[in-house]
Amino acid sequence: MNNIELISYVIVGLIPLIYFIIYIMTQLKRKKNKRNYLYGFIVAIVIALILFVIRLFIFTMSPLKKYIPTETSTTTSGDITTKEGDTTTKTTEKKSTTKKTTKATNDYNYDKILTPTGGEVVGKTPKGYEVKLVDGIYYVDGYLVANKTYDLPETYSPGKLNSTVNEAANKMFAAAKSEKGFNLYVASGFRSYSTQKSIYNRYVNNDGQKKADTYSARPGYSEHQTGLAFDVCDRNVGACITSGFDNTNQAKWLSENAYKYGFILRYVKGKDNETGYMYESWHFRYVGTELAEKLYNNGNWITMEDYFGLTSSYDSKPIGE
Ligand SMILES: [Zn+2]
Repeated sequence: MNNIELISYVIVGLIPLIYFIIYIMTQLKRKKNKRNYLYGFIVAIVIALILFVIRLFIFTMSPLKKYIPTETSTTTSGDITTKEGDTTTKTTEKKSTTKKTTKATNDYNYDKILTPTGGEVVGKTPKGYEVKLVDGIYYVDGYLVANKTYDLPETYSPGKLNSTVNEAANKMFAAAKSEKGFNLYVASGFRSYSTQKSIYNRYVNNDGQKKADTYSARPGYSEHQTGLAFDVCDRNVGACITSGFDNTNQAKWLSENAYKYGFILRYVKGKDNETGYMYESWHFRYVGTELAEKLYNNGNWITMEDYFGLTSSYDSKPIGE
């Protein structure tokens, strides 16, 4: 539980308690009988229940929790019947049809994604890196790429964080704990196509598609679906998967040290036009220490898109298509 949540619970508890005490005091002055105390107690419970419901409402609807489920995932607006939702569905379906013919097999080796073998070379990036399509997934210079241009097959579902990634994350969290006393944890790791779909749809419903696209991936386009990326939070920091995390010591430490464990800050501040997403101080992607150090660039993070020469836009086609 974070601090803000704790305060909200204190308010929920304190207000009825104060009411009850005041009530008892006035009753004592009037010297009324015991039944009135029971009445005051019941009213206090009712007040507590009402406050609890209000609290629940605020915490599920507030901007604070806004990004938690969605964020960098994939999108598809299936179930939602708004105009925007329909548009999204059409776009996504069109795209996945193309994919089904050119790529896609359901026979994935999820451990292979860090060192892909086989597949076919489909082209080169403007910066000279080889683009390969392996089982419907794009690899650039051997690194899996998932962004607004390079999508993933709907059927691709490792079900959890890759074990190498998980191990590296635990090492990083242990270092953060011993160096700084931080209590970091994976708040959102692997997300399936369908999870991303419901998350994105919710954002589209709340904010409209244009806005939602700046912070949440359409289904099939989320890095979370790869099992190589996660959102990190700290048990002692209230802001979790929100911009409130940006200026924390935790975010600073992660930005300066993640590369040592093979992670990159994926959505760099001020580089929305490259990555396709707003700055996310909490989203980290595993690429291994070699590339991570290059992208870290002595503290001046370079994006994968810039480094490899890739686009990230729903209007662009993948190289080779
Ligand atoms: Zn994320």
